[in-house]
Amino acid sequence: MKILDTDFDQQNMYIETLRQMNKLNKYKAYVKTYGCQQNVADSEKIKGILHEIGYELINDVQNADLIIYNTCAIRENAEDRVFGNTGALKNLKKQKSNKTIALCGCMTQQEHIAQKIRESYPYVDLIMGTHSLHLLPELLYKVIVSKQKIVEINHRCGLLPENIPIYRSDSKKGLVPIMYGCDNFCTYCVVPYVRGREYSRKSSNIISEIQEMVNNGYNEITLLGHNVNSYGKGLSENVEFATLLQTINALDGDFKINFMTSHPKDFSKRLIDVISNCEKISSHLHLPVQSGSNRILKLMNRKYTIEEYKSLVDYAKDAIPDLVLSSDILVGFPGEMVDDFAMTKELIKYVKFDFLYTFIYSKREKTAAAKMEDNTPLEEKHRRLSELLDLQTSIHSNLK
Ligand code: SAH
Ligand code: SF4
Repeated sequence: MKILDTDFDQQNMYIETLRQMNKLNKYKAYVKTYGCQQNVADSEKIKGILHEIGYELINDVQNADLIIYNTCAIRENAEDRVFGNTGALKNLKKQKSNKTIALCGCMTQQEHIAQKIRESYPYVDLIMGTHSLHLLPELLYKVIVSKQKIVEINHRCGLLPENIPIYRSDSKKGLVPIMYGCDNFCTYCVVPYVRGREYSRKSSNIISEIQEMVNNGYNEITLLGHNVNSYGKGLSENVEFATLLQTINALDGDFKINFMTSHPKDFSKRLIDVISNCEKISSHLHLPVQSGSNRILKLMNRKYTIEEYKSLVDYAKDAIPDLVLSSDILVGFPGEMVDDFAMTKELIKYVKFDFLYTFIYSKREKTAAAKMEDNTPLEEKHRRLSELLDLQTSIHSNLK
């Protein structure tokens, strides 16, 4: 297991210096999170560090001395939102030039984006990638005290140090990352490029974090990972996701366990049995299928077939009587033909998902799909998307 290059303890000197500064001035910080729950969990660490430094965390960007946008790169419209909101900070910076503006997260891990920010948004003081979060005290020190502009994009991915403080946004429901990164390289997806290789946290660290949360009154724990089903790979201990769930389920206390996201290729029938036998594990499964066509699934590098997916769903429906099933569907992947789309509709009719998250394919730099020919006009992709939404609505009204 690889821990990122410095233990968080080494950052304490910077924390202490910044804390002395904040004691005199009572600085305020605003942190905005874009994207998925992993980003929300990262922001809880960013806020934990800022809280430790003595910042007052506020929800009002106008009055903040430090503004941090924790960004998402999954689709182009997510990036466009960040660019738009960053553009809007120009006037704030003009009004008060000692405001510090920082962008971090999945967008800024990409070199071409960091370059664009430097050129088009010169008032951004700090650009920091996903693998540098634990260096935040040092980077802030350099930006605020030494008045340097910094771009810190570390490509040495790995586990974040365990002792980063966490400022949780809710006192009952808590997020617990169990792993970082993704090794699946689905051909449309930027995550493996911006989050790096897959690393699992030691189970003892996860268990003690959850036990402490439960002791402090948390009653809903959500385990996070880009592919939680491959938890344990590469650890020296012999533990897999189903075993981890069993251990958490056996902890004392009255609480529920959720987890996301699952990849169908690694979702075993054993795991379904564990879910059905453990009373604390939620019966909600989010099992992204992406497409109903085997040809498209192959092009996406998803490594399962629709027949395997259906067999998994059938097994889960039998084993978990109150199962709530949701999924992600990607419309308009390069080369998706009318016949492929028809198969996706067939699958939706077959499974009758409780809810669906539907997305139009967005081309992402570096990914394999970015080089694939894509002849379907955007209007046709929008038409397919609205057809899917209508289908899902009609399935639901018939179920009621
Ligand atoms: N790790 C999870 C989810 C990752 S991202 C999984 O494997 O399912 C969440 C969803 O965003 C994906 O399931 C996919 O449907 C969608 N997504 C990912 N890349 C995309 C892209 N380039 N364009 C549009 N949607 C995308
Ligand atoms: Fe992206 Fe696929 Fe990894 Fe999910 S499993 S994060 S879709 S590469």
